[in-house]
Amino acid sequence: MTTTIIGFPRIGHHRELKFATEHYWKNKINQEELQQTAYQIRKNHWQAQQKAGIDLIPVGDFSFFDGVLDTANLLNIVPARYKELNLSELDEYFAQARGYQKGTETVKALPMKKWFNTNYHYIVPEFSKTTEVKLVGNKLFNEVNEALELGVNAKAVITGPYTLLKLSRFLDGTKPRDYVDSLITAYQQVIARLGEKGVKWLQIDEPALSFDVDAAEKQLFDDLYDGILAEKHTTKILLQNYFGDIRDIYNDVVSKDFDGIGLDFVEGKYNNQLLQQNGFPDDKVLFAGVVNGKNIWRNHYANTIKFLNQLNTKADVVLSSSASLLHVPYTAEDETKLPADVKQHLAFALQKLDEIKELDNIYRDEADGKAALEKNDALFHNVKHPVNPAVHNRIANLTDADYTRLPARAEREKVQKKEFKLPILPTTTIGSFPQTKDVRQNRSKLRKGEITREQYDKFNEDKIVRILRKQEEIGLDVLVHGEYERNDMVEYFGEKLDGFVFTQNGWVQSYGTRGVKPPIIWGDISRTAPITVKASVFAKNHTDKLIKGMLTGPVTIFNWSFPREDVTPKESVTQIALALQDEVLDLEKHDIKIIQIDEPALRENLPLRKSNWYSEYLDWAVPAFRLVHSKVQASTQIHTHMCYSEFGDIIKAIDDLDADVISFEASRADFTLIDQLVAANFQTEVGPGVYDIHSPRIPSEQEIEDLIKQLVHKLPIDKIWINPDCGLKTRTEEESFKSLQNIVDATKKVRSEINEPNSVI
Ligand code: GLN
Ligand code: ZN
Repeated sequence: MTTTIIGFPRIGHHRELKFATEHYWKNKINQEELQQTAYQIRKNHWQAQQKAGIDLIPVGDFSFFDGVLDTANLLNIVPARYKELNLSELDEYFAQARGYQKGTETVKALPMKKWFNTNYHYIVPEFSKTTEVKLVGNKLFNEVNEALELGVNAKAVITGPYTLLKLSRFLDGTKPRDYVDSLITAYQQVIARLGEKGVKWLQIDEPALSFDVDAAEKQLFDDLYDGILAEKHTTKILLQNYFGDIRDIYNDVVSKDFDGIGLDFVEGKYNNQLLQQNGFPDDKVLFAGVVNGKNIWRNHYANTIKFLNQLNTKADVVLSSSASLLHVPYTAEDETKLPADVKQHLAFALQKLDEIKELDNIYRDEADGKAALEKNDALFHNVKHPVNPAVHNRIANLTDADYTRLPARAEREKVQKKEFKLPILPTTTIGSFPQTKDVRQNRSKLRKGEITREQYDKFNEDKIVRILRKQEEIGLDVLVHGEYERNDMVEYFGEKLDGFVFTQNGWVQSYGTRGVKPPIIWGDISRTAPITVKASVFAKNHTDKLIKGMLTGPVTIFNWSFPREDVTPKESVTQIALALQDEVLDLEKHDIKIIQIDEPALRENLPLRKSNWYSEYLDWAVPAFRLVHSKVQASTQIHTHMCYSEFGDIIKAIDDLDADVISFEASRADFTLIDQLVAANFQTEVGPGVYDIHSPRIPSEQEIEDLIKQLVHKLPIDKIWINPDCGLKTRTEEESFKSLQNIVDATKKVRSEINEPNSVI
């Protein structure tokens, strides 16, 4: 045994799983038909791996929604409210993943969160007083049976107990410790049952070891695994880490009775140092993650072989991917429209299987190894990323002044207040209005060539005028154009910037049946023509109110694309920032006085280890944002927007973006964030979201009024903005309009109370 992968994309070559699952949800096919499709997909994926010559094939990495949820369900970690619905096993599973509604009965879905530093989302398991951990599920074992029947050399895959506990939510005062014993028993039973079936390896995924591990967490890890490993069975245990290194716990891990340890040598560069310093036990198998599971570029064999040859161990080495291939598209072969010089550098999931096999041949001096090595090497002698000397020039000439906006924020605040004459507690939205069916149809007609560009633009312009009237009618203070022209906040900019290329079929699972098709950064990035200016100016010319221009920020564009590996993230982000600077200055020139630069991905891009947050990331990402806007006049107001995550721990970095205003997601529970802002003496004006746009619920005027009053009590009144917590793109118009009306009415009420002579607010 010499090759394996951590996991394979689940959605199918042509996203068959997505379509079948969605059909099932709409009652167009029954459960049996869905299961049949799922089986076909698994079979195809196993056979593709066999065909590529992969020895040890992951089984159980398939999922109808998410692997963490699969493991939770296998172990009976299912909240009672879902069990009480008395659904079939699969429907109960979907109810947890996406909520359940039948007649008057509604149960909300479990929360979903970003999976480490990827753009995949997992379902957050919930532990409570009623949780009884025990092995109840059959999915893993059924899939193992299928694989074995097909002659697949199966490596069963499961989320590890440490990661499960780290990622879960604990209610009713329960804590991870309470479940250690029952988890040990359950995992032991899993191992025993796999042993009975003759499964040779079980891969236990523990990516959470890439976070900081403190003494208490190390103890938790020890207790779990000392328990689980106390009894050995015929199935060998592989402890699989990815997304980083295990520096806090390396010696502990290698001293335990694992049969194999899987390390990520791509993102976890430090792992090699750990091996050099501490060695790696001869009697364990080292699963070496050397082929990048998260990016789409070809592996440079010569470098990888050099790396493998210097590994400090006599142990058996199995070549593997650095992470599950879930994060890359299925096959680059389908990309018929990409230029050949780009395509030859791409390795999606199927190509990565071949790479692992070829690397293995080279590493072990197999006959065909040398030819493969030479062919691969030639590729790297001849990379032609389009170079734009002007971009390099611009970067070389940057000085501190380019990253510093003058005058200082307090000064600008005065100028802007005078210029805009907005009422106290100004109201606005985050940018997008509902992307109704007709908006999507219009876009699809253009794509299919059924309408002309002029017809397409005219449709969107009518939409802009309509939504401006609506916003005026509602009484909002700062208006937006509605973002009807954008399919996606990153793809839209990527398409208009030089340096990006696009796939036709490069789908990657984002969550459940939802996929994204990330743009690929290929050359130097620059702006060749204005991007948003036309729509913003059109909007400005159709209202007397202030218009807010709308851009996606450099970090977010970068993070939601496939990055280059031959240049640093800092270099790419700086290039994007300069391209956006051109856009900002252009908007300003066209008299757009308020410009919002969205950075929802700023937080999610943080290194997993806190100690690296500034040194490896924020120290350049924050200045890159400033680079976008630092050249505007004092009277131009820069907004930013963030969502999907908690910001309490990066407040200072957010203030350092030096925006004039920030709007962010602040659900009711998170209003504690406001206290943190106060404690940190936050200087940016803030619009904490008073309407949760992720829910179809329309907040009442009273409810919003109460929230606004809370804000007014905590923050300086002249620093508060009132807005929803994110764009309205996914909501219906009815919900949005009603909610916005309540927001405006509530704000007006609070304003008038404040203006009363003896106001107590
Ligand atoms: N301006 C964007 C919108 O309103 C922001 C989206 C986001 O934060 N993800 O849709
Ligand atoms: Zn948002």
